[in-house]
Formats: sequence, structure tokens, C-alpha cells
Amino acid sequence: MNKDKHILVVGGGTAGWMAASLLNRKLKSAGFTVSLLESSQIETIGVGEGSTPYLAKFFSALDIAENEWMTACNATFKTGIRFLNWSSVRGSEQYFHPFYSLVDFEHASQFEYQTRLKRHFYDVEAHPDKYFLAQSLSCQCKAPKATENFPFKLDYAYHFDAARLAQFLKEKAISAGVQHLTGTVDSVKLKNDGDIESLHLADGRRVQADFFCDCTGFRSLLMQQNYQVKFISYQHRLLNDAAVALPTELPTEIDKAIPSATQSYALSSGWAWQIPLTNRYGNGYVYSSAHITAEQAEAELKQHLGLDKNAEIPARHLKMRVGRLNKHWQHNCIAIGLSQGFIEPLEATALHLVQYMIDQFITLYQQGGYSNKYQDELNHKVNRQFDNILDYVSMHYLTNSYQNSSYWQDARRVPASEIQNQILNDWHRGEDLAATLTRLRITDAYSSSSWHCLLAGSGYYRQDQQLRPIDVNIEQIDQDKISDFIRRCSLNYPDHNTYLKKMSAQS
Ligand SMILES: Cc1cc2nc3c(=O)[nH]c(=O)nc-3n(C[C@H](O)[C@H](O)[C@H](O)COP(=O)(O)OP(=O)(O)OC[C@H]3O[C@@H](n4cnc5c(N)ncnc54)[C@H](O)[C@@H]3O)c2cc1C
Repeated sequence: MNKDKHILVVGGGTAGWMAASLLNRKLKSAGFTVSLLESSQIETIGVGEGSTPYLAKFFSALDIAENEWMTACNATFKTGIRFLNWSSVRGSEQYFHPFYSLVDFEHASQFEYQTRLKRHFYDVEAHPDKYFLAQSLSCQCKAPKATENFPFKLDYAYHFDAARLAQFLKEKAISAGVQHLTGTVDSVKLKNDGDIESLHLADGRRVQADFFCDCTGFRSLLMQQNYQVKFISYQHRLLNDAAVALPTELPTEIDKAIPSATQSYALSSGWAWQIPLTNRYGNGYVYSSAHITAEQAEAELKQHLGLDKNAEIPARHLKMRVGRLNKHWQHNCIAIGLSQGFIEPLEATALHLVQYMIDQFITLYQQGGYSNKYQDELNHKVNRQFDNILDYVSMHYLTNSYQNSSYWQDARRVPASEIQNQILNDWHRGEDLAATLTRLRITDAYSSSSWHCLLAGSGYYRQDQQLRPIDVNIEQIDQDKISDFIRRCSLNYPDHNTYLKKMSAQS
């Protein structure tokens, strides 16, 4: 085993500090030291305020209590994402994409069954909002934290202040032994075998290490600029390439309710997010610059938020590069975060991918005796994870039925992947979609229930035949029983705002 190795993380955004924290935690006992170098001249991207449920595992791997980090980062709980205005199909103007939990097990399969009946033109309730506990909690602004006498754990994610999270992780990492360096990398020196030997900084210093993590954001300094690793663009499948972010105050009813879900609202040339924190809302508009200018996007977002168009609220305009590297591990270097790729933030998967990359790397690096043995395997796994998420995210656009906008028409025409075509064909043919998804080996990233929620929630049913009443010989689902079960389960969950206040008082 190669002991006494020095790992240098380059970049102090959320990806950099997440990487440094986990690498230090997991590899320190094997003799590794971890340092992080960041530039004081180059800003972090500073957005990214929603997560998936996977983030809980990151904090538990670091033994950081939920109430500690959540309070420090003005964080709230996230039970899922509500999609509004994406569809003009009657009854599907909105739907909720919940985080699936074991408590939903029976109802999720009943829901999938109902979508199949509806795809065979039976007139049944097949909208996801009727079947999942998380959706009910979000409607009631409840926290997904049950009282002790309700022993079912709900999967949930978080909303947080991105700047505070990076700062929190930085302080934790430094106190856990990560060395912190500041300086701007100017050039890279390679060894004869192609490995990176050292980095030369703008002030003339040189930093050496045995292994490097490129967390330099969209610059992708080590992987793309230095190694010229091929970048696979997703732009032909995801039209959005820009965003404008705008924080707003929480409404005055803050003492009454804090939503426990992200909102995604379709606008003329993209969609607007709204993320509730304990002290403010994070808002933004993700759009296609080919369809709307930055000024128009800012004005449309302000109008959507009910703000005066001349309101002096500092808006941040951002460019997004969507796609991924062909390889994420090359020689003695890996890329993590925006430097390795980005899928637009519709399902808030960027930090999920950061964590996935670090976890996979640590596992394979350890298995390979701290060598490059499993480099190809890691590259393959990470590429698959990116592409599977891309298929799910871009499916929202393919199936939209927003009216009267060239952007949304163009979004419906983007080329579908082979996998998406098979999913859509089997969906419309009334096949067992869960079996299709398993055959396509695509459920690692999104479960069968997520795919069903997307297609059924957006009302993506064929409209060319009249729905007929259900035959007596077909098993019927007792809708009242499901509603009653969900209602009674939800009684065990506290008001979100009250729970957050209690948690903060205890931290
Ligand atoms: C509009 C938008 C919304 C998003 N929403 C979400 C979301 O809801 N959920 C989610 O998970 N993610 C989201 N993301 C993604 C998220 O913001 C990023 O994944 C996350 O912030 C990590 O960024 P990063 O650390 O890779 O890069 P950055 O934050 O850009 O950090 C790069 C770092 O590299 C350093 N650096 C660069 N060049 C050099 C150099 N030459 N020398 C030394 N240091 C250097 C910089 O100083 C900086 O510290 C969103 C992104 C966008 C654009």
C-alpha cells in the first residue's frame, strides 16, 4: 500500500470542500494528508441550494449532526419538487415529484398500476399527487420528521444557503486537519509519465502533491485545460445555458408557514425555482439564451415574483455549461463538481453527483490498493450516472405541453435518446414500465416511481381515445383508503417552521 500520500484539492467551492472533508475523513487513517488550495481572485459560483436525499449520508459520514449544520446554513427540509405550469393538460397543471419512502411502498405500486390502466384508456385516478405521503406533507408545510411513535423513516432532502454551506464545510475541514492554502494556479508541470508533478502559482510558489482533485468549477483547469479531456456537451438535449438568481424576503407569514418543497414554475423560456430557507427565498430563472436575453429574463422573473421591475434587488447572472467530461479520472488526477460536468439544476443533482464521484473514487481507490487500477471502472460508472440523470431531466422537456412559446415547442423537439424512446414507446403501448426501466438498467439514478410521477404527473397520456369506465373483472384501487392512510400518517409530522425553530434552539 502507498502510504504517506499527499492529496491536493484545487478549488474551494462546495465541491472542493466536500471532497476535502470526505477524503480526509476516509483516507487519513491510511496515512494520507489532504490540502485544499483556492484562489482569492476567482469567485465560487455561489448558487446551488437544493439537494437530493443522498446528502444526509455525507453529513453522517462526517459525524455532523443535522441540527448543527442545518442551523448554521439556514437550511430547511425538502420533501420533493412541485412542478407548476409545465403542462396544459387538464388536471395536470401541476404535480409533485416526491422522495419515495418505504411507507409509500404499497401505494407506489398501486399508482403505477393505475397509470397502466389509464394507458389502456380506463378512467381511473392516475395522478401522482394522490399516492405519496411526501406530497401531503408538502401541502401542509410539514417537516418530514415523524414523532417517535410513528416508526417509519421518510426519505427527504434539504434546502440550504450555498455560501454558508461552503463556509461551514471549510471550518469543519480545517479543524479536522485539512491544510488550507490560498493562491491562483498559473500552470501545471507534468512528469515524464504524464502524471501531474506540481502546480505553479501566480505568485511564483510551487505546490507539489501525489494526487490532485480538480474542483476548479467550469474552468476545469487540470482536466480540461491541462489534460484536454474531451467534453461531451449536452446542449443539444438541454436548451438552457443561463440563469439569473434573485433572493427575496420570506413573506410576512414566516411565522405561519415555511414550505418544505422546491417549486419549479415554467416561464416563457425556461423555469423558475423557488427555494425556501429559514431567512429568505432563493429564486432563479434557468433559461435558454437563444430564446430570451438576460435583461428580459430578469424582468420576467421579477414579474413572476410580483416584484416591481425597477426594484433594486441585486440579481446574479450566470452562464451554464451543460455536459460532462469523457473521463473523470486521468493519471493522478480526478475532477469533481462543475469541473467534471453539469446537468442543469432542474432536479438539483449537482451535489449529488459530487458526492457520488467522491464515494465511488474512495471505494475504488481503496480496493485498488491506492493505485489507478480501477480508473476505467470509475469513469464508466460516473458517465452512466450522468447520462441516466440527463435522460430523466431532459424527459421533463420532451413531455411538456406548455402552450404558445417557441422555447417550449423547441424543447419538445430536442432529440430523445435511445433509452428515452424505449421508455416513451412502452409507456404509450401500455407496457409494464417498471419492467422496461429495469431492463434498461436506468433505475440507479431515478426509481420507477419517479419515472411514473414524471410521465403521469405531466399528463403525458394519449388523448386520441375516449376513456372508458373500469370493467368489473379488473382489480379496483380503493382511493378513499389511500387518502385516509396518508391523512392519518401525516398527523404524525410537525409543522415545518415550528420544527426548525425547535431544532435551532437545541443546536
Ligand atoms: C443556476 C444554478 C443553480 C444550481 N442549483 C443547484 C442545486 O439546486 N443543487 C445542486 O446540487 N447544485 C446546484 N448547482 C450547482 C452547484 O452550484 C455547484 O455544483 C456547486 O456550487 C459546486 O461548484 P464547484 O465547487 O464545482 O465550483 P465553484 O463554486 O465554481 O468553485 C470553483 C473553485 O475553484 C477555484 N479556482 C478556479 N480556478 C482556480 C485557479 N486557477 N487556481 C486556484 N483556484 C481556482 C475558485 O477560486 C473556486 O474556489 C447550480 C448551479 C447553477 C449554475
